Amino acid sequence: MENLRCQQEVAAAAATAAPLNYGHIPLVELQSKTPVNVNDWTSIEALNNSLENKPVQIRGWLQTIRCKKMRTFLVIRETSFTVQCVVHSQPALEKFAAALSKESIVDVQGDVSIPPSPIKGATQQVEIQVRKLYCVSKAATLPINIEDAARSEFEIEEAIQAGKQLARVKQDTRLNFRVLDLRTPANQAIFRIQSRVGNEFRKFLLDKNFVEIHTPKLIAGSSEGGADVFRLAYHGQPACLAQSPQLHKQMSICAGFERVFEIGPVFRAEKSFTHRHLCEFTGLDVEMAIKMHYFEVMDVVDELFVAIFNSLKTNCKKDLEAVATYKPLKYLQNTLRLTYEEGIQMLKEDGVVEVKPYGDLNTEAEKRLGQLVLEKHDTEFYILHRYPLAVRPFYTMPCNDNPNYSNSFDVFLRGEEIISGSQRIHELKLLEERAQKCGIDITTIATYLDAFRFGAPPHGGFGVGLERVVMLYLGEDNIRKTSLYPRDPHRIVP
Ligand code: ATP
Repeated sequence: MENLRCQQEVAAAAATAAPLNYGHIPLVELQSKTPVNVNDWTSIEALNNSLENKPVQIRGWLQTIRCKKMRTFLVIRETSFTVQCVVHSQPALEKFAAALSKESIVDVQGDVSIPPSPIKGATQQVEIQVRKLYCVSKAATLPINIEDAARSEFEIEEAIQAGKQLARVKQDTRLNFRVLDLRTPANQAIFRIQSRVGNEFRKFLLDKNFVEIHTPKLIAGSSEGGADVFRLAYHGQPACLAQSPQLHKQMSICAGFERVFEIGPVFRAEKSFTHRHLCEFTGLDVEMAIKMHYFEVMDVVDELFVAIFNSLKTNCKKDLEAVATYKPLKYLQNTLRLTYEEGIQMLKEDGVVEVKPYGDLNTEAEKRLGQLVLEKHDTEFYILHRYPLAVRPFYTMPCNDNPNYSNSFDVFLRGEEIISGSQRIHELKLLEERAQKCGIDITTIATYLDAFRFGAPPHGGFGVGLERVVMLYLGEDNIRKTSLYPRDPHRIVP
């Protein structure tokens, strides 16, 4: 029935569209009927004064439509760029335009003109005088208004102060209709920034002779163990989704790759519902052979993240401006390093939160330490190292001078952890001992342990959560905002 109605619409449109300067493009025309030159379309971003009086054709989303003083104004959007298109003295075309629904995709043909005064409602400061307007894809009634979704919390608060009421789209509604929510300029910017972080990570490491690897996500047994594992059946055998590439990236060092990295999905069956945990996130993982000391790994973290931050500052100015919560990050060109003991000492002297010398720092303590470090060292990015052994995973190398501590580190961005890393144990006997002490049945990690039997180089590495980095860098309050289609304990769609 739906199909029949669709065919009838197409036939009706085909009958009317062809000779007219407006109409719905029939589906058949969009079914790869005739090859075209894509250069006949200009991107909205490229529309500027140099094109004055030139004919152009654009394709984009119909963001707004309004009639004023015998003219119809359409704002068309492509990614984060918008242009105002003006229709006048064409009653039939204007009638057609007025009936189009917001967020329909349209093709506009016309001439570029420069208006006498600046255009407020569009990014491009030229207009298109419309000659032809075709609808490529009609949008149904919108469940959320893109203009409402695009409004920042700051704008809403300002309006409230001024006694005005502006609609606020709730987080859950946004995520339910993520495809619409993602069309806002801030969200387009967030994911371009995320893409930049991933690319800089890859570029930096490739330049330093690291090899990009892809470890399996289907793991026999229970990955690194623990409760937060997604279990599944693998052809009748128990299996699970990898909680990290940890074991396989270490095995790859034993396989002779020397320096490896991976960008891939990480699965955690998190039970708690927090602002910074997802059940699936993108892990940026590094593992490398070292000569003598875990500082060799921290040196890579330091250089790598300073390079990422420097690049964001230079290359993502416009995108950063589009994210209302972003405030320039304070960081040093040589990253500050504090030992865990020094951190604990700072917290003790401060006396605001309680800390245990060999325990882990809770979120509150981490945040407080972040504030103290900012006050004292003027940086929001620092490394805390030499953690108590008891709070680190079994494969972490204990310190040579005090077995209560380990050759490990966490890295903090605006007071929250973004990276965990360490020197790993490469000596089989010690590795088995530590696994057993941590309550792991070593038969379940037998193939991992085997990798250390035939010559294993001293090595270390670290893991970063991409969405967490972007959330904290941008000053966002929830990791769901920096995950394209977030997965949390309550959400596995869209
Ligand atoms: P946390 O203490 O925040 O739970 P973790 O100690 O479990 O993190 P690791 O297992 O060491 O973290 O993972 C390395 C990095 O991966 C973390 O620093 C963080 O950036 C990211 N990460 C860890 N768990 C999650 C998660 N559930 N969702 C999103 N990112 C995560």
